[in-house]
Amino acid sequence: MAGAATPLLLRQQHSFVTVNRFFSASLPSLTQTKSSNTLLSFSSKEDQVLVVVGGGAAGIYGAIHAKTLGPHLTVLIFDKGRNPLSKVKISGGGRCNVTNGHCADNMILAENYPRGHKELRGSFFNLHSPVDTMAWFTSHGVELKTEDDGRVFPVSNSSSSVIDCLMSEVKQRGVFMQTKKIVKTASVTNSGKFLLEVQKQPADHAEHVEADYLLIATGSSQQGYTLASQLGHSIVDPVPSLFTFKIEDLHLKELSGVTFPKVKVRLKLEIVQRNIPQLTQVGPMLVTHWGLSGPVILRLSAWGARYLFGSAYKGRLIVDFVPDVHVGSLKSILSNHKQKFAKQKVLNSCPPEFGLTKRFWSYVLERQGISGDILWASISNISLMSIGSVLKECVYEVNGKGQFKDEFVTAGGVPLSEISLNTMESKICPRLFFAGEILNVDGVTGGFNFQNAWSGGFIAGTTIGALALESCQSSK
Ligand SMILES: Cc1cc2nc3c(=O)[nH]c(=O)nc-3n(C[C@H](O)[C@H](O)[C@H](O)COP(=O)(O)OP(=O)(O)OC[C@H]3O[C@@H](n4cnc5c(N)ncnc54)[C@H](O)[C@@H]3O)c2cc1C
Repeated sequence: MAGAATPLLLRQQHSFVTVNRFFSASLPSLTQTKSSNTLLSFSSKEDQVLVVVGGGAAGIYGAIHAKTLGPHLTVLIFDKGRNPLSKVKISGGGRCNVTNGHCADNMILAENYPRGHKELRGSFFNLHSPVDTMAWFTSHGVELKTEDDGRVFPVSNSSSSVIDCLMSEVKQRGVFMQTKKIVKTASVTNSGKFLLEVQKQPADHAEHVEADYLLIATGSSQQGYTLASQLGHSIVDPVPSLFTFKIEDLHLKELSGVTFPKVKVRLKLEIVQRNIPQLTQVGPMLVTHWGLSGPVILRLSAWGARYLFGSAYKGRLIVDFVPDVHVGSLKSILSNHKQKFAKQKVLNSCPPEFGLTKRFWSYVLERQGISGDILWASISNISLMSIGSVLKECVYEVNGKGQFKDEFVTAGGVPLSEISLNTMESKICPRLFFAGEILNVDGVTGGFNFQNAWSGGFIAGTTIGALALESCQSSK
């Protein structure tokens, strides 16, 4: 039934104009009207309408699945931007890290969500897991590959493959898409339908659209939070997540560009007195011009997002550069090295057990004020201890938040307690659904944020599609 010639009615100053849906999948007649109060409704009784606010990953995936299951359903997506899927386009440095392929166990998968890790352990990923996402994209022509760290990308290394696939499905299924249209307000009419005020961008006349189902998938946009509030939801204050740490340290700056494959980093904040295990992370770290970055730092920024916000992004990082070397063995490694390489200059001979680069070893000596020109034979025990303390417990003062360009998300949004995760339907307003970043869910880096969008979009879309199908069958 996709793309069938069902007539649409456009009410303009109390007169009805019939618009044949065959004319275009982008409803050109709507954009042409200059009426200040146009009401778009649908004439066919069995034709139900789903409006999706937001043409991002969650909204488009949701729309496609709703239309797949309920082909009679009229599905209309509004996006305020010029192009839909704009974040998919720039994601993963233009490659789009679609999902994560290293989390076959959904319980482990849920642990990658600082907001949502408890709630997402249940039905959410069982209904649509990363494996399901990969299967869907693969069966729709997007070849995928899983990198060593679990990140899944299109084989083409281009986010366009994902966009082309989704947009081709939108077209084929007969989903209507309207860009440069911002949904300003949402309310429920006496007849129980949603009434939306839609404004063309740049600000023009307003149109009013009625819908039987509403899916809000507006990412982290303030307007999306406003729509949710208008329909009775509360909003957990949004704060940034996934960012780098600014550290002012002249010596560290000299290491800019150096990566450490495995460090253990602890974040200490004055406002956090209890022990939070997730504020200690192990993984790769990168030194940048302005401070520290890399997966281990981004994970800390995500788990510490709210505390860091509350601390004005000031805190202390304690870095263990040799996490696999025990403190006891570290001391004996240094003493043995001193005896064995007594005649060598300290700078020229770093104990190989530490696996450090010469550049970093030089940094360690400089930072502790130890001349690299002295011989191992003449190095004092105090100096050995101070080398040990830098390697095991190097302290950095964090004095701000950097901008990580590859991935950035917002913590906060519609609380998960206000929706049913097995349908994505609001517990407050029937037939209202949410998916994606608008929810108080955010993941660490590695494809987990898109997975939230795909899973939520799928669950909301299939629920709406099934409801529409049921209603269509019962009206026959
Ligand atoms: C630079 C960058 C790179 C990223 N890379 C990755 C990655 O590789 N892997 C990963 O998993 N995650 C990545 N993320 C995170 C990921 O992009 C988001 O989590 C994901 O896009 C959320 O999808 P969404 O559909 O919920 O929201 P969005 O993608 O933000 O889509 C929301 C849409 O709603 C529209 N909208 C908002 N309000 C209105 C309104 N009132 N009316 C009409 N339209 C509206 C917006 O224009 C937008 O198109 C990245 C994020 C950034 C910023």
